[in-house]
Amino acid sequence: MAHNKNYKLPIAVTVAIGIVGCSAEEEQTDPAANYTIEPIAGDLYKASNATHRTVFVVTDDGIILADPINRDFSTWLKAELDSRFGVPVRYVMYTHHHWDHASGGAVFEDTATFVGHENMIGRLAMPPGNTAFPAAAAGMDANGDGRIVMEEAEGAYSANFGLFDYDGDGAITGAEATRGPLNDVRPPDLTFTDTAEVTVGGATARSVYVGAHTHTDDMSVIVFPNESVGFMADFISIYRPPRFIRGEAPIDSWIAAVRVVEAQGFDIAVGGHGNHEDAEYVTYFREYLEELRDRVAEGIERGQSVADLQESIYMDDYAEWISYDEFRESNIADMYNILTREF
Ligand SMILES: [Zn+2]
Repeated sequence: MAHNKNYKLPIAVTVAIGIVGCSAEEEQTDPAANYTIEPIAGDLYKASNATHRTVFVVTDDGIILADPINRDFSTWLKAELDSRFGVPVRYVMYTHHHWDHASGGAVFEDTATFVGHENMIGRLAMPPGNTAFPAAAAGMDANGDGRIVMEEAEGAYSANFGLFDYDGDGAITGAEATRGPLNDVRPPDLTFTDTAEVTVGGATARSVYVGAHTHTDDMSVIVFPNESVGFMADFISIYRPPRFIRGEAPIDSWIAAVRVVEAQGFDIAVGGHGNHEDAEYVTYFREYLEELRDRVAEGIERGQSVADLQESIYMDDYAEWISYDEFRESNIADMYNILTREF
């Protein structure tokens, strides 16, 4: 490989400018202190909170927005868009249904049409009423009545109680826990099987389904062909390793999903977390998965344990990636698990 995967292109050093004038105290209590808007290409911008990113493109006739992220963020974004551009959001294009990217879109629903993959509908629906609690929640049902009330809820279930409680009866059932904290995800109006394209005032956005791989079965990349930008969340990390490698499908189905994105031919890749970079970083991410797959597979062939592999596998081409050291060992363990289980 001739390229140095650690070389960062100039676009990556663009520093988002936060809201100035906040005291340190306000920064801790006001989430808007972490909200930013940053130009990427032409009339396309990246908008961020502390942890999540989205993109939008502006025309005289309105705006096409990707993920709304959450209600606080999209409420802030709507006011910013109104004051900066004075045109409404006409489309919201979802990458996938997960609550931390897809919530809050309702603030745009008086002007916008919502577009998502057809599998998103099933993911937002309630599972059967007799669905058991997922493992992470089962222990919280202290009195064993099949309902987690606020006093019993812990962690994410406590923090997002109202987003889990679909029927608003003050308790989370197994079905509600399995569905997830999705109450603030505004369902799509337009769904598609393979691809959907929308146009507003000369701007185009295209959702392309990447296949049922491992992160979710409703995942799309959002492509803005005029600006040569692609937006992707969670199943591709830009200039950093995957946070974890899910084991619900063979690794090669994930790699195939990345290849769908590579085939779109855009120049700038914007991630739902972290950086935006030259689109070569999508290819580097696939090569990371492939090298890790091959090295872990070789170790398994030699009879090595996960601990052996964690001692020996260092992927130097990626050592400078954000949080490489933090996720190196868990990525190896995750890959070991996915390569040694039955599908
Ligand atoms: Zn996700």
